[in-house]
Amino acid sequence: MSNLVLNSEMLNHVLEGKKITVEDANEIFCVSKHDPSELFKTAQILRNKHKKNIVTFSKKAFFNVVNLCRDVCSYCTYKAEPEESKLSMMNKEDVIQLAKTAKKYRCIEALFVTGERPEQRYDDARKWLKNNGFSSTAEYLVYCSEVALENGLFPHTNPGNLTKEEMKELSKTNPSMGLMLESSSDRLAEKNMPHQFAPSKKPKERLRVLENAGELGIPMTTGILVGIGETENEIIESIFAIKQVHDRFGNIQEVILQNFQPKQDTPMSDFPSADENYFKQVVALTRIILSDMNIQIPPNLSPNSYQSFLSVGINDWGGISPLTPDYVNPEFSWPMIQNVEEGCKEAGFELKCRFPVYPEFFSFVDSKIREKMSEIQDKEGFVEKEYWK
Ligand code: SF4
Repeated sequence: MSNLVLNSEMLNHVLEGKKITVEDANEIFCVSKHDPSELFKTAQILRNKHKKNIVTFSKKAFFNVVNLCRDVCSYCTYKAEPEESKLSMMNKEDVIQLAKTAKKYRCIEALFVTGERPEQRYDDARKWLKNNGFSSTAEYLVYCSEVALENGLFPHTNPGNLTKEEMKELSKTNPSMGLMLESSSDRLAEKNMPHQFAPSKKPKERLRVLENAGELGIPMTTGILVGIGETENEIIESIFAIKQVHDRFGNIQEVILQNFQPKQDTPMSDFPSADENYFKQVVALTRIILSDMNIQIPPNLSPNSYQSFLSVGINDWGGISPLTPDYVNPEFSWPMIQNVEEGCKEAGFELKCRFPVYPEFFSFVDSKIREKMSEIQDKEGFVEKEYWK
């Protein structure tokens, strides 16, 4: 515990290890609007206490498996229509080829991303699946994950809401999986709100998938999208909703905080980017609520300032690819891993490459996957420097 005495009684309590409530978090947020320095300081102390001077990332290849999607989110530029040039439908051979290339680049993670059950909306998706020998996207992802493992990569699949059975099948090859909560607010699914036409983003549905993963013992990456019209209280409730799942099942391996950036070809193109000070407050508050958990921001979405987030609570940069673009945010390229490492060093941190599953969640992972991981794993459970550099 720090000896530092802050003016805020509540933040002193946080440093003493006392739990905070939604109401406390709201008060801290409100007070810190005028002067966030104590909030940031508290987040920094907690970050350093729980994560020492280590910052992690995952060296990945982004497999844009299929970007047709049953749903429509007003901020999304990832989703394609069949006639658009950005349409991606990777066939088996494309998956094998990219896996082989990713291995040459010494990527660790194969990130498999799809739209939400495209076969429910598009004939093209049904035909594409049939041509590849599958009847659902989830079935195809099992195959893709096997290809990744066979080629020395570790799959992390981010396919939207799956059934419990589908997740169980994927957990045989995926050391972890991903599903953004985005927000726990039902209001954001009302008329003229970003999730109006996205039934899969109903908070209840999303939380149920995270809980199913908890029951199955699958380490999950989840997170929230910041700046899409939510209130401060809704942000705080969303963080607490994630905390509740983790308190129950212990399976939330990391929380991504993604700052909204408007995309030209979307209904929210005129909506402003998330304000950086607001975003920093959200990051620091998340550290205070989820004190020992892994908290990530994507560095490419704050290209000029991402290193400054190290002093407000984050301990992970997420996936960075030396090979493939960020198809979800195509206008933002990944930073060079070497530059990220140098920046971390200047700020007093050491960059380590992690597997798609964090070391503290290894006990959740299938023994055959663990065996493969151990071939390139260092003593602390990260990827050996000699391998990824
Ligand atoms: S964010 Fe996901 S669910 Fe929403 S439209 Fe885009 S691909 Fe579909």
